[in-house]
Amino acid sequence: MADGILVVVSGFSGAGKGTLMKKLMSQYDNYALSISATTRSPRKGEAEGREYFFKTKEEFEKLIADDKLIEYASFCNNYYGTPGEYVLEQRKSGKNVILEIEVQGALKVKERYPDAMLIFVTPPDACTLKNRLISRGTECEKDIKARLKQATLEAACMNKYDYILINDDLEKAAGELDHIIKSRGDLKVDN
Ligand code: 5GP
Repeated sequence: MADGILVVVSGFSGAGKGTLMKKLMSQYDNYALSISATTRSPRKGEAEGREYFFKTKEEFEKLIADDKLIEYASFCNNYYGTPGEYVLEQRKSGKNVILEIEVQGALKVKERYPDAMLIFVTPPDACTLKNRLISRGTECEKDIKARLKQATLEAACMNKYDYILINDDLEKAAGELDHIIKSRGDLKVDN
């Protein structure tokens, strides 16, 4: 059986990536979503091993030292990284594995796995982004500002992605995402 495709989905914080991933997983088959490790504190409703593996800084640094992560990055003063074992296992079993990660990590994955498919998810406009961040109510004002600033930096890297997906309508965006991934076949993307 051929290995599954390694798919990296990035996008501004507040672009609706998390909801889009849930939709993709529940509605379309043959996907596995990688669960990252992070040093950020759990948000209300988040569970250990479901949204993230929550680690202390020391625990995270041990994962780095033991070479357990295929990439990691620092984002808004916290570490985030992708444990390698699950990703490799799932790909071997033929599943398309999705990493929902930020830009620095995405570019590291592309370096290490040139066949990875990079998809950038964006809301239709900057106003929607700000409103989504405010209305989800999970960050304080200072963190919202930091995330909007980060979004400006990330926008500069969008041209390194293979596809840009506008997340305006959830159903439609999930369908498009599934289509982009599964129609890859042996299509060659020039960077
Ligand atoms: P949040 O704190 O909102 O859950 O995530 C903040 C950012 O970290 C998001 O852009 C998310 O995609 C990214 N992220 C989550 N997991 C990882 C990971 O394993 N590696 C990297 N590089 N970024 C991640």
